[in-house]
Amino acid sequence: MCRKRLQEAGFSEDFKKNTVFRNLRGKAIFAARKGKIPLQKGVHLIAAHADSPRLDFKQRPLVEQPGVAQAKTHYYGGIRKYQWLARPLALHGVVVLENGKSISVAIGEKAGEPVFTIADLLPHLARKQNSQTLAEVFDGEKLNIILGHSPAPTAAKNKDIKEPIKQHVLELLNAKYGIREEDLVTAELQVVPAGPATYVGFDKGLVGGYGQDDRICVFTALSALLDAQDPERTACLIFWDKEEIGSEGSTGAQGRFLEYCMADLVDAWEPQTRLRDVFQHSNAVSGDVHAATDPDWQELHEKLNASIIGHGPTFCKFTGSRGKYGANDAHPEYIGRLRAILNSRNIPWQMAELGKVDHGGGGTVALYLAAYGMDTIDLGPAILSMHSPFELASKVDVYTTKLAYQAILEA
Ligand code: MN
Ligand code: MN
Repeated sequence: MCRKRLQEAGFSEDFKKNTVFRNLRGKAIFAARKGKIPLQKGVHLIAAHADSPRLDFKQRPLVEQPGVAQAKTHYYGGIRKYQWLARPLALHGVVVLENGKSISVAIGEKAGEPVFTIADLLPHLARKQNSQTLAEVFDGEKLNIILGHSPAPTAAKNKDIKEPIKQHVLELLNAKYGIREEDLVTAELQVVPAGPATYVGFDKGLVGGYGQDDRICVFTALSALLDAQDPERTACLIFWDKEEIGSEGSTGAQGRFLEYCMADLVDAWEPQTRLRDVFQHSNAVSGDVHAATDPDWQELHEKLNASIIGHGPTFCKFTGSRGKYGANDAHPEYIGRLRAILNSRNIPWQMAELGKVDHGGGGTVALYLAAYGMDTIDLGPAILSMHSPFELASKVDVYTTKLAYQAILEA
């Protein structure tokens, strides 16, 4: 989707051009719009992550249990397991065949398509569960996705088929996608909440939907770059994968993709300039969501330093936990410059930290950006129900976050 919008806006994979992008395995993407002043003076960069918590199929997923065929999963990122039970789920991903052909799978989103689900225990048999802890009750090995129920018609005649429901699922997968059971070993299949985002509330003031952490920042940052015409400094974006599982891997923020893209940009535009000078003169925004004050759990926030949904994007000087451990901790001079930029355009903003001291915490990609020597801070909308299947954002924050990102890119 990002690639399509960039291409439509004239961005090219040829780094000799003035508006360029590079895609890495369909999971990370870099884009840049040339500024008026040299790269040597640094760039404005906004980073965000496109991955969200979900349930991934195991590599040998299929099992038949009484009455149903299921897929076993391994959850990805920080989920509250109970939120994924007894609700419609959709399946997305790719299956790579032995001949190297990649098959895209997307089922459960369109009207008329079947969805999938995980059955939850009925209250009548939940007496023991009621006295257990949350961690004991919800077992990762019970997050099994119901894929089918009816036995394969061929199984009525062929008594050698021991798992007729699983057989039926396999036959249907073969008919629709041409895949066999062994092909699932080389697949990445992701189970996510089914259905589109939707307005919430009589006034339609909120947007509810899955994956707003952090696609809300992908959307607003991309819109900001596309609208930021003639920026003073070169304006760059990077969208990473794997943030929810620690930013590892070639497509995550700890990979070298950003460095390689910037090096190629320097080679193409200003070969006499040193890459390290570009980085050390650059400003970065880690575009990620913040935890809005939960109306029902206000006691977990420290109100002087908590963000309120609908009051504009939230700066977070430091993330991390327990004494700022694992934080970037932005420099005050940089915060001062950004504050002046937003104030000069009358764009609302907030400054907050994630919850009360010692009550939890969280991390973003900010520290990986800062490692290059860039001035870095987190800035993004505050949301409710973060990491749930139905996250809530304010329309006002979506709009003002886009304005804020654009103002920074144009500064
Ligand atoms: Mn995030
Ligand atoms: Mn997250």
